[in-house]
Amino acid sequence: MASPDPLYRTDVEWQQRLTPLEFQVCRCSATEPAFSGCYWDHHESGIYTCRGCGQSLFDSRHKFDSGSGWPSFYQGIGVLQLLEDHQYGLLRTEVRCAQCHSHLGHRFDDGPMPTGKRFCINSAALSFQAAHPLDPSPEKQT
Ligand SMILES: [Zn+2]
Repeated sequence: MASPDPLYRTDVEWQQRLTPLEFQVCRCSATEPAFSGCYWDHHESGIYTCRGCGQSLFDSRHKFDSGSGWPSFYQGIGVLQLLEDHQYGLLRTEVRCAQCHSHLGHRFDDGPMPTGKRFCINSAALSFQAAHPLDPSPEKQT
């Protein structure tokens, strides 16, 4: 019987698509070591997409330097799934991609304005697309 979810993949299929670290983060909710990923100190303009399915998740204009060692954003642009996470006896808010259910990171309430939120995301769960080709700044509109 065919799966009704076109994005459904078995663990074996995910392991073929992802590196071992990406698989641990995206599919097993692991956290990469702080200051180890490729995006915590990344300052180019563009869109961060889901490593699992390619959905646009975060905009570089919402990224800020949290000092945590993980890429941090004060808001998302994609469809995110927020779940209660009771791991380690702490109540945290887990952030997943709503499309492929890959684990992305956690959301905390100590972010900067305007939202006061801090999306603390693993680099291993993200890919990056430079620039904003479909979203010109207001000054450049013709
Ligand atoms: Zn996804």
